[in-house]
Amino acid sequence: GVLGSGDFARSLAVRLVCSGFRVVVGSRNPKRKAGLFPAAAEVTFQAEAVKKADVIFVAIFREHYSTLCDLADVLVGKILVDVSNNTEINHHKESNAEYLASLFPACTVVKGFNVISAWTLQSGARDGNKQVLICSNNQEAKRTVAEIAQVMGFTPVDMGSMSSACEIENIPLRLLPAWKIPIFLALGLFLCFFTYNLIRQVIHPYIREQKNKLYKIPIEVVNTTLPCVSYVMLSLVYLPGVLAACSQLYYGTKYRRFPDWLDQWLQHRKQIGLLSFFCAALHAVYSLCLPMRRSHRYLLIETAVKQAVEKKMTIWVEEEVWRMEIYISVGIIALGLLSLLAITSLPSIANSLNWREFSFIQ
Ligand code: NAP
Repeated sequence: GVLGSGDFARSLAVRLVCSGFRVVVGSRNPKRKAGLFPAAAEVTFQAEAVKKADVIFVAIFREHYSTLCDLADVLVGKILVDVSNNTEINHHKESNAEYLASLFPACTVVKGFNVISAWTLQSGARDGNKQVLICSNNQEAKRTVAEIAQVMGFTPVDMGSMSSACEIENIPLRLLPAWKIPIFLALGLFLCFFTYNLIRQVIHPYIREQKNKLYKIPIEVVNTTLPCVSYVMLSLVYLPGVLAACSQLYYGTKYRRFPDWLDQWLQHRKQIGLLSFFCAALHAVYSLCLPMRRSHRYLLIETAVKQAVEKKMTIWVEEEVWRMEIYISVGIIALGLLSLLAITSLPSIANSLNWREFSFIQ
């Protein structure tokens, strides 16, 4: 059974029908909504639908749960699946699922499917997140809902009792929690190196020689800053491992917790490494674009004119030519190796490597 006829209810009904379930939809206005559902799904009034189903997905918003109170008698003994999400993290004191359970004490409430979007439901778990996190105080009900999820092509994940509902409801609202510290770290480093390069390349020449080099800020200064950030970030990926090893040697045991800061640092290594790769990739693009700039062309022509005036036939400096060839070639190899590290950190690739292969690449 599905209560509601919105986006989620429709996608859920389609997926359930495709997975071979008999579906009955409960709507406040079944006549108007029936056309939106697959023909195999029965669309009827809420009370009617509830009577016909043992497992009922409540695909309506928390704010409207109280409007279901009239159905309390027919809902007795049924399994209610709370699929709802909030608009803010820890929006209410109690989770939506616990609130639903408090409204219908004669029902068994299971929290689940909220981390799956209507889109993923429709595309049938081929695209997007496949895990369905489930929690409930009733093992039997949890197993029933997990089986339904499995038949629908999803991977049920048992998150324990109803006290986990709040955590499950917060998941779709989190914005890259593992990335916050690495991003601030990268921004901090960028700011430091940018200031340093700005002073060196723009402010210093201006003060010393009154030369206006402001045009260098958007590309040249940024481009010299990016590899500095990239290298420091890369070293920050490997440094905590060394510190952890030193700490274990110092204390003579591996059965001792690392200090919190080191623990956090160790846990963010992958994100720090990927940001290092991101900066290196940007540096490569910026570097390729350097000759496209108008300032570059003007300086080139200026040099050529000066050379003509001075009647110089060649300005070839062997040492500089070699320096640049080696410099760029090493840069390309470094980017290639960093790409390899980044690719092997993708879960699908990392999971296909054994520990020896992974450490060999690292
Ligand atoms: P929606 O399109 O706005 O649909 C909500 C449905 O609630 C309406 O179609 C309505 O169906 C029903 N309803 C029952 N009583 C109501 C009342 N008193 N006032 C207003 N509507 C009432 O919302 P939705 O996107 O399907 O989301 C439904 C639930 O699924 C929400 O709790 C949401 O957090 C959760 N969810 C949605 C998604 C998603 O991708 N959309 C993903 C995860 C979770 P009738 O008019 O037929 O009664």
